[in-house]
Amino acid sequence: MESFEVNPRPTPNATTTNPLPRIVNTIVVCVTMQAEAMPLVQTLNLTEEEEPSIFPKALPWKKYSGTHEGLTVHVVVPGKDLKLGVDSVGTVPVSMLTYASIVSLHPDLIINAGTAGGFRAKGAAIGDVFVATQFANHDRRIPVPVFDEYGIGTLAATPIPNLVKALELKEGKLSTGNSLDMTPQDEEIIKANDATIKDMEGAAVAYVANLLTVPLIAMKAVTDIVDGDKPTVEEFLGNMSRAAAALSATIPRVLEYVNAKSISNL
Ligand code: SAH
Repeated sequence: MESFEVNPRPTPNATTTNPLPRIVNTIVVCVTMQAEAMPLVQTLNLTEEEEPSIFPKALPWKKYSGTHEGLTVHVVVPGKDLKLGVDSVGTVPVSMLTYASIVSLHPDLIINAGTAGGFRAKGAAIGDVFVATQFANHDRRIPVPVFDEYGIGTLAATPIPNLVKALELKEGKLSTGNSLDMTPQDEEIIKANDATIKDMEGAAVAYVANLLTVPLIAMKAVTDIVDGDKPTVEEFLGNMSRAAAALSATIPRVLEYVNAKSISNL
């Protein structure tokens, strides 16, 4: 495999401490579900690479690439489970995909786009697109000193105040777990995580991006209201295409905003 070089870790005062501010030229958009990815792939007019040469053969992972107003954009998707044929949702496939994509494609920025459950009590409504300000896990309970904190694994998002203001985006903390439903224990930890949105991948992408010092923006469209009265699965399925449309409308605007800017100016 190609040797891997990382750019300097962005810091809040990167303009003064970092002699080479990272300029956004190449972006990887990491999307879990095929149905979420396709409207975006079509909107951006990207081309699918058959058997992407950057990934080991036999993997179901997909890559759609092209340029958008001079930016190089790759949308990567973990694809369908080889045995069951359903989307490879959850933390493990997306972590592997994010790692491989960073190592091979050297993005200046990763966007994790997807859907999430939203908490009405925290101001979420169906179809809203949220930018995550913080990532944490709610299903990694390790009641041993320090490991408890490792399990939660809180990470701050790359600050993007100017982008959020310019595009009038909603912001909220994201809590991730490998279940679509929510046990009472999950609920307790999600509350402690102060989450507005809940998904099954975000904190895993943040873990990999943070390890490899690549800036990350997570954008999540709300498909279901967790503290509402409708069953999650029904609500999720009913709103999936609306959420995918909201993402494919918002992400091109984000791409246009970040294009050729320094991360520290976002
Ligand atoms: N495709 C399945 C469900 C997929 S799992 C179905 O057809 O029913 C749900 C996906 O949407 C995951 O990728 C997850 O990140 C996101 N998601 C949406 N609402 C969620 C919620 N309430 N809790 C956790 N993840 C949610």
